[in-house]
Amino acid sequence: MRYSQLFIPTLKQSPADAEVASHQLMVRAGMIRQLASGIYSILPLGLRVLRKVEQIIREEMNAIGGQEVFLPSIQPAELWQESGRWGFYGKELLRIRDRHDREFCYGPTHEEVITDIVRRDVKSYKQLPLLMYQIQTKFRDEVRPRFGVMRGREFMMKDAYSFHADEASTQKTYEDMKRAYSNIFTRCGLDFKMVEADSGTIGGNFSHEFMVLADSGEDAIGFCDACDYASNLEKAALAPPAATTEPASDGAPVETATPGKKTVEDVAGFLNLTPRDIVKTLVFEHEDGLVAGLVRGDRQLNALKLKNHLGCNWLVPADEKTIAEKTGKPVGFLGPVELELDIYMDHEVAVMGHCVTGANKPDAHLTGVHPSRDIKTTATLDLREVIEGDPCPRCANGRYQIKRGIEVGHIFILGTKYSAALKAHFLDTNGKEQPCVMGCYGIGVGRTAAAAIEQNHDGNGIVWPMPIAPFQATVIPVNVQVDEVRQAAEKIYQSLQASGVEALLDDRNDRLGVKLKDAELTGIPCQIILGPKNLEAGTLEFKIRKTGESKEIPFPDGLASLPDLIKSC
Ligand code: ATP
Ligand code: MG
Repeated sequence: MRYSQLFIPTLKQSPADAEVASHQLMVRAGMIRQLASGIYSILPLGLRVLRKVEQIIREEMNAIGGQEVFLPSIQPAELWQESGRWGFYGKELLRIRDRHDREFCYGPTHEEVITDIVRRDVKSYKQLPLLMYQIQTKFRDEVRPRFGVMRGREFMMKDAYSFHADEASTQKTYEDMKRAYSNIFTRCGLDFKMVEADSGTIGGNFSHEFMVLADSGEDAIGFCDACDYASNLEKAALAPPAATTEPASDGAPVETATPGKKTVEDVAGFLNLTPRDIVKTLVFEHEDGLVAGLVRGDRQLNALKLKNHLGCNWLVPADEKTIAEKTGKPVGFLGPVELELDIYMDHEVAVMGHCVTGANKPDAHLTGVHPSRDIKTTATLDLREVIEGDPCPRCANGRYQIKRGIEVGHIFILGTKYSAALKAHFLDTNGKEQPCVMGCYGIGVGRTAAAAIEQNHDGNGIVWPMPIAPFQATVIPVNVQVDEVRQAAEKIYQSLQASGVEALLDDRNDRLGVKLKDAELTGIPCQIILGPKNLEAGTLEFKIRKTGESKEIPFPDGLASLPDLIKSC
């Protein structure tokens, strides 16, 4: 394509609200423009990149038997009421009414729609398994749209759904997906990790996220420095610690005055102890009431671990008023000894020989508490948040490392959640009616492109990995007003096109500096520069965007070697 005919509105300045490199550079490189908060127009250069990502996704989805469909973005409320999500989804769901006052939503995801399709036409195990995917626009009214297309409200997603007659078939597709996703992100040139992710109430290792490693990532991931265990930090597991050699408290707990000392630090300081000698009692509220969680004073409780253990729909820290009303105990001095709540104790607390807890009285704590003797628990479990250096739960010698990541893909076994609710049933080999077992698998197309920029940019702009670059090479004549130069550039461009290289010809009548700046900013992997001096010397300049490395290639004799040179970049 010819630059002069393309719409690539590059900018010198970043928009004021662009916090991360990918957002700044996508706008500056003329790839996207914001229409409204979290809503973007994708311009020609941007679309070329998204289409490349989509093509890679398509090829990998097709390779594992995926069939492409295209589902409506507007979905009737009735379907969402049937699945139970109309009430549950909250404000992220954009609800709209038609002229007959019927309620609809703009699809944030398509489980309901695809399950409706399957329930109408799939009747027998003989029609299963089925794997369908689409690449389509989603709308989620995100609380905090930011980072450009990385967390937009309207965004492109590849979503796939699979339907199975049994668990074994579901597992097989899940494994296929893991491989396909790994291929996709590898082919996009990304440095990523597949991590275990929260699978909510389904439990087990039935959900994995694909995280592109980048400091700007919104997620934290924990992974072992010795084995291949990796997990979203919110789910990262810890094995129970070895039994302690610490002597157990030999007498009953002793009530000790701690006037006005409510925080772990204050209590520890006052008693001349350290936070790890204290046990924190944290009260949470969920749909069935209050529960207490216990972790060591120097640790953080991971509420998601508690929520998953309880299998509840929601769980939040209880506020002081609710705690005071429901337990009658003073917040800040609350303790687990003789507390009438279900108590969930972290493994580390269970092995403590003695500790300090609240005394359930104002201005007092109990010292010499021996948790396994003095605290009545409902369960002892892994409740705390992982920190760097913690032992790996899988292997003997590994330690946790923590890094930031951008979630670009998420795969999930759904079980029969939607098929049961929407009655997507089939007849099994015994003629018995069963709900299909389902899986769902998403990739953010725009987010993947943005993540690639987060990993591949420098002070001058984007440095596209070749497979998703908008063009593979840009031919830059130093001065198009010189006939010989213009014609030579044209010749190079034509020859690249003819050998299947996606080339851009910067035929603008602009200064070389302007063209080089734009070439750097837009991140095209190879630059082919030539001017009158080159023509005299019988060479052209071949420059690699990533390394800045430049070499002279004989011209016209070396023309035939260019495609291979470009492909090797
Ligand atoms: P997040 O935790 O980032 O909100 P999610 O768990 O809501 O993601 P899924 O519902 O699993 O995401 O969606 C599948 C994929 O769609 C994600 O892995 C991500 O790549 C992409 N995605 C989700 N929300 C957005 C968004 N607001 N903007 C751009 N891409 C998104
Ligand atoms: Mg989300």
